Amino acid sequence: MSLPRPPLPKPVPPASFSAAQARMWEALLQRRFFKLIGGGSFTQADKIAAVSQAYLTAGADCIDIAPDASLIGLVQQEIQNAQSAPAVLMVSVPLDPDPHFRKIELSEPDCIRCGLCLPACPTEAISLPDALAISQDLCYGCGRCVPTCPTDALHLLPFQVESQIEAALSHPATEAVEIHSHYVDPYMLEAFLIRWQPLLRNKLMALCFRPEAVPAEQMIRFVQTAQQAHPLPLFLQIDGAPMSGNDHPEASCPALQAARYTRQAFEIAGLIPPIITISGGINGHTAKLLQHPEYQFIAGVGMGTMARQAVWNLSAKEAAHQAQRITQAFQQDRWRPF
Ligand code: SF4
Ligand code: SF4
Repeated sequence: MSLPRPPLPKPVPPASFSAAQARMWEALLQRRFFKLIGGGSFTQADKIAAVSQAYLTAGADCIDIAPDASLIGLVQQEIQNAQSAPAVLMVSVPLDPDPHFRKIELSEPDCIRCGLCLPACPTEAISLPDALAISQDLCYGCGRCVPTCPTDALHLLPFQVESQIEAALSHPATEAVEIHSHYVDPYMLEAFLIRWQPLLRNKLMALCFRPEAVPAEQMIRFVQTAQQAHPLPLFLQIDGAPMSGNDHPEASCPALQAARYTRQAFEIAGLIPPIITISGGINGHTAKLLQHPEYQFIAGVGMGTMARQAVWNLSAKEAAHQAQRITQAFQQDRWRPF
């Protein structure tokens, strides 16, 4: 016999949105939302600061980073220093063993120092001075190096952030939270929301998942669980090919199709679909694809690997210019309002 579950917390509305939250919400409603994804597992402080600075200068609506209090402090400083409109600082957290929270581990005895894995890494996390060295801060668990290794010396392990969630959600600069889920399990989400409800109350919330792996009814119950518990309206970040860093013209098609599937699932069930954004495979071609009438319901994008790579080794001025070019492609008023 299963024990009765505690009831979901009753939503308590916040006093009001902050200026940054109001701007971000308006961008979602106007379907011109742009979020820089710093990476749930990416923890290299200097790079996070530099990339955030570039996209804040460019007018990004949101900067989404790992649940790390020192990184939050850094990005908070960048937000305060930015001469642009206020942006929301979002923290990503895992609900379950989600692929956005991984780090690479090297089995040293198996490494023959061939160097084949070095060019695969988009963050230059791997170096080979004498022995192979991997920067754990630069590694964000994309997994690209794994299949390049002839001796199976590289393995992806979960990036444990559980002990950091409380400090990250308590931080006064954290104005939004994104809950990442691999299993899209409503009961796991319910338990998470019950546990962290007092720290979530005033935050904008996003749910990030890949919908095709679960039945539509389960996905809808997952979203409804959050809608019932959270006092603020939430949105979805529908993931296509996460951390793919792919510049192919069709790299964002899995995300676009998954977003359409999600919307249709709600419509077929006779429900109003939530606000939907996309991530995973977002690149310079995505803005053009979004102009297709079929995808005009999509409220915006979260861009990670390609956004970071575009400004990776540039001067602050060049990085801001490049970031502006990318950001503005998604922030034009080209979508009809809801
Ligand atoms: S390729 Fe990806 S998983 Fe491998 S070290 Fe680089 S960031 Fe980490
Ligand atoms: S590819 Fe494998 S064996 Fe070669 S340097 Fe990298 S980890 Fe070592």
